Amino acid sequence: MNAPEHRTDIVVVGAGPVGLFAIFEAGMLAMRCTVIDALDVIGGQCAALYPEKPIYDIPGFSRIDAGDLVQRLAEQATPFKPSYLLGRQVVAAQANGDGWLVATSAGDRLACKAVVIAAGNGAFGPNRPPLPGLAQYEGQSVFYLVRRREDFRGQRVVIAGGGDSAVDWALSLSAVAARVSVVHRRDKFRAAPESERRLREGAAAGRIELVVPYQLDGLEGRAGRLSAVIVASMTGAKRRIEADALLAFFGLAASLGPIADWGLALERHHLKVDPATCQTTTPGIFAIGDVATYPGKLKLILSGFAEAALAAHAVYPRVHPERALHFEYSTTKGLPAV
Ligand SMILES: Cc1cc2nc3c(=O)[nH]c(=O)nc-3n(C[C@H](O)[C@H](O)[C@H](O)COP(=O)(O)OP(=O)(O)OC[C@H]3O[C@@H](n4cnc5c(N)ncnc54)[C@H](O)[C@@H]3O)c2cc1C
Repeated sequence: MNAPEHRTDIVVVGAGPVGLFAIFEAGMLAMRCTVIDALDVIGGQCAALYPEKPIYDIPGFSRIDAGDLVQRLAEQATPFKPSYLLGRQVVAAQANGDGWLVATSAGDRLACKAVVIAAGNGAFGPNRPPLPGLAQYEGQSVFYLVRRREDFRGQRVVIAGGGDSAVDWALSLSAVAARVSVVHRRDKFRAAPESERRLREGAAAGRIELVVPYQLDGLEGRAGRLSAVIVASMTGAKRRIEADALLAFFGLAASLGPIADWGLALERHHLKVDPATCQTTTPGIFAIGDVATYPGKLKLILSGFAEAALAAHAVYPRVHPERALHFEYSTTKGLPAV
């Protein structure tokens, strides 16, 4: 790897809620962070998968929309002047004296004292339906996530899938779309029972059309603009549904990508950490949030927040070897200058 272009105390891989809170926890201990994310926006799953959904288990908030949580976390991190490098993947980390050299897919090279991996399920990649010509429609009329419900106002929307995302978005979009059709290959959904009950209620009331048991078979349209989705029954009988947009919710491909090849111990695609420090099996590389695992791990945002605090304290002697770390409450020390 060539010489670094940028120096920082900690490189945080992933700008999800946990990576964002890591900036704050590091800042409280006078450590600066550079945060890198493959997405063009901060917020991880909260921003990419459910920005307008309320979360009910963030301490201190009886409910908060995921997008608002991201905004508040970014505000809380602002005093510590983080650098964000978005739209690029972290591809390599190489030992460099008492620290690390980190490389991204955009050619950045960063020298740091510690790497904190907050990579969630890995860089996002949707499971795509195997339909001919799919690529020309992607981003124009075929989508794998909803950024703004309003984008679908007045449209004829086909939703494919049988899990929570398909059912929740069918319910939500039925309030704004001209028509919502849900295509699923079974008559049973893998969604929360209450959501499925509301889906069937919506179907009975004519607000949602259930196209079951059917699966996607083809797309019709021109120059990336969809005009119809072709579906086929299990016996091969075809049906044409006029549509402006197709939302395909077949889950995300969970792949750690290059991080899986860094020689860190893995357990079912997650990084094994010492729960006392969140250090991986490689000294100087830490993992927090959904990507980290240890006995009793709960994949919750609040667990990730606590892990960010543990990792920051464990990283401290690497960044400030000359200073003893005295545990202090934020009420005692206020916000330290950076
Ligand atoms: C529909 C839904 C509802 C949920 N509801 C709740 C809830 O009510 N309460 C709760 O606590 N949790 C909930 N969760 C789970 C919660 O969203 C996750 O626990 C949380 O997002 C984990 O945060 P994170 O920062 O660890 O990872 P993520 O949010 O997954 O962010 C990881 C980021 O890392 C980036 N990344 C990965 N690899 C790389 C790389 N090599 N280079 C650069 N960037 C990389 C990704 O692009 C991503 O942006 C829900 C999840 C979903 C999908």
